[in-house]
Amino acid sequence: MQIGPIASHFIDGQYVEDKSGTPIPVIYAASGEQIATVYAATPAIVEQALESARKAQKIWAKMTGTERGRIMRRAADIMRERNYDLSVLETYDTGKPLQETLVADATSGADSLEYFGGLAGSLTGEHIPMGEDWVYTMREPLGVCVGIGAWNYPTQIACWKAAPALACGNAMVFKPSETTPLCALKVAEILHEAGLPAGVYNVVQGMGEVGGALVTDPRVDKVSLTGSVPTGKKVYAAAAADMKHVTMELGGKSPLVIFDDADVENAVGGAINGNFYSSGQVCSNGTRVFVQKGIKEAFLKRLAERVGNAVIGDPMDEAVNFGPMVSENQMNIVLGYMEKGKAEGARLICGGGRVDKEGWYLEPTVFADVTDDMTIAREEIFGPVMSVLDFNTEEEVIARANDTEFGLSAGVFTNDLSRAHRVIGALEAGSCFINSYNDAPVEAPFGGVKASGVGRENSKEAIKHFSQVKSVYVRMGDVEAAF
Ligand code: NAD
Repeated sequence: MQIGPIASHFIDGQYVEDKSGTPIPVIYAASGEQIATVYAATPAIVEQALESARKAQKIWAKMTGTERGRIMRRAADIMRERNYDLSVLETYDTGKPLQETLVADATSGADSLEYFGGLAGSLTGEHIPMGEDWVYTMREPLGVCVGIGAWNYPTQIACWKAAPALACGNAMVFKPSETTPLCALKVAEILHEAGLPAGVYNVVQGMGEVGGALVTDPRVDKVSLTGSVPTGKKVYAAAAADMKHVTMELGGKSPLVIFDDADVENAVGGAINGNFYSSGQVCSNGTRVFVQKGIKEAFLKRLAERVGNAVIGDPMDEAVNFGPMVSENQMNIVLGYMEKGKAEGARLICGGGRVDKEGWYLEPTVFADVTDDMTIAREEIFGPVMSVLDFNTEEEVIARANDTEFGLSAGVFTNDLSRAHRVIGALEAGSCFINSYNDAPVEAPFGGVKASGVGRENSKEAIKHFSQVKSVYVRMGDVEAAF
């Protein structure tokens, strides 16, 4: 089986190869089989991509917003037409079940291109009257933007960064995660098929050092990273050295708070969506599930029953809803956390180890009686490990939920409307849910507070992070001066 791309990089409207770069094997998570090889970008490839982006950005920014938007919406249509093939590729790249990729990846990417394509023609400034004079503002592109992706949603991340950037008239050089290098190349191919001028969206492969070379290049005006907090701190610092704009979409250890009066079935559903979708490899997951004592046993009983219904197996089988971890390395990291949970005294409700089959499968795992100081309650695991913690009062749970460096997401399940809004108002998080978990429509801002990030993706908020405002004072009369 060879799923390999035509070449490793996509620059200036075409595939480009340079086999002198470090080879990066692409491994199918469900079998451990190598399905492709790409080559990390050499300095010459990085140079080609940045030069091409710099030139193309000038052409792209001169087009009207309506023209830019039309191309983006055409690309969205092509993505939807090819959803099945793109979903299969996403499954090869990540190991996520086809049942998920058919509805969550190319479709989400297409939504993003359609939404921002629709906005592109209406990105205007303001007119501010000043008596006889006036000020007008212009919303201008930033220039060349660098996008750097994580491995859990390679198509979605490529589009979520490209769409607002392109709508505002920027060009982009995107570096996918070295673990999932295939999908972003298809996004580039489709954008160009839809009419994007060559060089406006480029893809280069590589590890952290290629990302580092892009971030520190003086031709780059903005960096948008999706990744872990430690990487975010490095990239933010490197970008700050040249005062570059940043968006940081980083990790989390989000609280999901379930009060006694919640509907048990819905709360269990929310906890499953917030811990086991994509085998738990989702940044916004509600991995600290605080359950009020009165509902605890009923919640755990239904949770164990429903987790037992997970269909684990071949991700290409559409009946399967729980796939392998993205890589052997990630599987071993998560196994380490499962062992720590057991060693530190958490009560194992279900799972706790590998699934006995080839590929990097782990069992969906639930620990109960978890306390705030346990490693599994403090660190981001990024795998299918749910920690259930008990609580008594609203005041107590708010303080404990906020006692973390992270602040990406938070959820509350309760039938008490006032309490739902009061508690969500007090939780330190950027993307929140009431009686739901992990919805991420393009219309809603997405992003974190505290160490979980800076800036927002999606919605009109993202426009602010890919553009800047110029203000122009216009004087109608004579200029008065002191001398
Ligand atoms: P990672 O931080 O290891 O890598 C992310 C990307 O950064 C990769 O492309 C990597 O090559 C690149 N990189 C690494 N070092 C770099 C450097 N010094 N300079 C420039 N680029 C560098 O993250 P990962 O393991 O790929 O992904 C998992 C993490 O991503 C988790 O922490 C998860 O929570 C987070 N994540 C966040 C969101 C979000 O939207 N908030 C979404 C998905 C994943």
